[in-house]
Amino acid sequence: MTSKRKLNFNGGPAALPEEVLKEASEAVVDYNGTGLSILELPHRGKDFEKILEEAKELVRELCGLNSDYEILWLHGGGRLQFCMVPMNFLGPEDTAGYVASGHWAEEAMEYAAHYGEVEILSTSREDNYAHLPKWPTDVSNNLAYLHYTTNNTIYGTQFHTVPKSNVPLIADMSSDILCSKRDYTNCALIYAAAQKNIGPAGTTMVAVRKDMLERIHRDIPAMLSYKKHAEKNSLLNTPPVFAIYTSMLTLRWTKKKGIAAIEEENRQKAALLYNEIDRNSIFTGTVTNKADRSMMNACFIANNTENEKAFLQYCSERDITGIKGHRFVGGFRASLYNAVTIQATEALVKAMQDFEKENKY
Ligand SMILES: *Cc1c(COP(=O)(O)O)cnc(C)c1O
Repeated sequence: MTSKRKLNFNGGPAALPEEVLKEASEAVVDYNGTGLSILELPHRGKDFEKILEEAKELVRELCGLNSDYEILWLHGGGRLQFCMVPMNFLGPEDTAGYVASGHWAEEAMEYAAHYGEVEILSTSREDNYAHLPKWPTDVSNNLAYLHYTTNNTIYGTQFHTVPKSNVPLIADMSSDILCSKRDYTNCALIYAAAQKNIGPAGTTMVAVRKDMLERIHRDIPAMLSYKKHAEKNSLLNTPPVFAIYTSMLTLRWTKKKGIAAIEEENRQKAALLYNEIDRNSIFTGTVTNKADRSMMNACFIANNTENEKAFLQYCSERDITGIKGHRFVGGFRASLYNAVTIQATEALVKAMQDFEKENKY
């Protein structure tokens, strides 16, 4: 790497492990001694077939999903899944339940309303999503599915465990997949846009239980059908080869570290930062129920808004980048995804401490 790497707390696309970036950059010049760049590799050749197979197997292994599930690597980001889920599973006469815990959950629900009935099972909308809504009980068995967002990237709240559900549970895990040990098998379908925890932008991992593929409710074009993607092994059209390759490298890195170690580090990083947010007289955390705080995205504000710009500037002088809060909420958001190191987190904490000392009145 030629230039000095910044300490990257961006919400997504987000930090990737340096060794992944190195290997991916080498593959851009020559993939594995083939004399071809990864960017030139035919998607129906043996080399890519191996990459795709390994990417699928790593998801299976790391999430603990057996052959009851199909693993797909698709295009279109998180938002295409907002459409594909209802297109595939919500008939015009059906109702789907949504837990409206934040912006992404709401947007998913808006998309679903194009295809069938939508019921809000619980929401914290009235408190601007500053805490999690209660997990819904007495969910009707007649719902086509229950959709929720495991981690609310913009508001910094997180469902730390995956609940059991009497109707098919569909989880948007875009911003916290593989952050900790979890029971992924409680879900009928999981999707994760890669650019937060498992790779670069450009591909989305979908794990879908095979029995769901028989529930297709309407006549949909192949590109939007989970069943067709599964039948063609994610090769219905030209897949995002480079994004899948780099995701595979990130998953290899994840496996090498191990989920237990990753979870332990994520807990340490979150504890370091939240302790400082709570201690520091300049800042306040925005999540009102501490138990709901996200391990992945820590949201906070400056008590005196004049300190907001000043602290951003202060951080940028220390090569800390990406801590500006999402435009919907303002303030700060430090994303602590798997590839963000403890050292980077300590540097941010140190900046907060030094800033406090220099700005005592
Ligand atoms: C980032 C994000 C999305 C949106 O992903 P796009 O790929 O930009 O469509 C969806 N859901 C969650 C939870 C996210 O964090």
